[in-house]
Amino acid sequence: MNDSVGVYISVPFCRAKCTYCNFASGVFGAERIDRYVDRVCAEMSETRSAVERMDAPVPGRVDTIFFGGGTPSLLDAAHLEDILDAIRATFPGELAEVTLEADPETIETGKAAAWVGAGINRVSFGLQSFSDKELVAAGRMHRRADIYRAVPILREAGIRNINFDLIAGLPHQTKESWRQSLEELAALAPEHVSVYLLEIDEGSRLGKELLQGGGKYSAGAVPSEDEMADFYEVAQGVLRAAGYHHYEISNWAKPGFESRHNLKYWRRELYLGFGAGAHSFSGTERWANAHDAAGYVTAVQGGRLPIEQHERLTAESALEEELFLGLRQLDGIDVARIEREYGVTVMGRFDPLTSAGLVERDGSVVRLAPRRLSVSNEVFVELMR
Ligand code: SF4
Repeated sequence: MNDSVGVYISVPFCRAKCTYCNFASGVFGAERIDRYVDRVCAEMSETRSAVERMDAPVPGRVDTIFFGGGTPSLLDAAHLEDILDAIRATFPGELAEVTLEADPETIETGKAAAWVGAGINRVSFGLQSFSDKELVAAGRMHRRADIYRAVPILREAGIRNINFDLIAGLPHQTKESWRQSLEELAALAPEHVSVYLLEIDEGSRLGKELLQGGGKYSAGAVPSEDEMADFYEVAQGVLRAAGYHHYEISNWAKPGFESRHNLKYWRRELYLGFGAGAHSFSGTERWANAHDAAGYVTAVQGGRLPIEQHERLTAESALEEELFLGLRQLDGIDVARIEREYGVTVMGRFDPLTSAGLVERDGSVVRLAPRRLSVSNEVFVELMR
């Protein structure tokens, strides 16, 4: 296991609210952003001391950083530098991957150069679609033309590792428009691709409209679950043909460009999250910060850790995590190792899934069947029985 630490920085600011989103992000002025960045830096040294007081030894070496949101690309380069300086001062290490989530309309030449100067070496783009009709319906701020404007700016600034996020299942999406988005994406040749199926969140504007049977936010034009499963399979085909390696249910990469930071989540490696709603894992404990940015700032300002949830993992819950998170990776899990480490017998739990063709066995390794990935939820439900 890699015992270096991943650091996640939550940036809960957006320019507007997308219709499908229920993330606790808000639209804030410059003064509140300044205060927030200041509190995130303060939280780091507080957390470092608190983690050292816990049972689990958390090594201090950081090798990946991920600025996630919200829309972290709304931060000034000076804010990013302040946070990166605070991380380097608190958790020394060799930074291999420093990712910034960005929306295409926020990319500017000067900003991109400053990001690279500050140490950002990977940009994760929330593209979601290349269809303006779908982008407008989803309440996104960018349009297809912004994508084509932004990518060369990043390349010229020296970013050699770009991820594109796409969402399968946006209102008005059809198999043809979905294939078109995938083909345009492949032609731009990002190093990494994430494909997420639209999750209807009851707390989002779109989710509420769907629950009420209304038609606002193009609720009547959301593709069915079967169509989304079809879209996923189309993505598998197009991305395979374009030379991407499918390594996690939602993630594809050109060889050597798998996300080092996100692999930590699925491999149960150590990570520390800072900022509103950020999650942390010490190997034996998980904790999450206050979701609401104002509550978070108040807690840190008062000299308190802004922790809202805390869990010490039992052997049973750690075992379940091994199975669920491990199976998300297409290489699968070594059940013999898990049985040895946890002193349990679990291979029998996979028998019905193997018979149903949902998983494949290769010696002691179990992996999701590549042709049934679009129904992987069935595997997880069955494993919980
Ligand atoms: S940009 Fe992302 S976090 Fe912000 S509202 Fe849209 S989906 Fe939510």
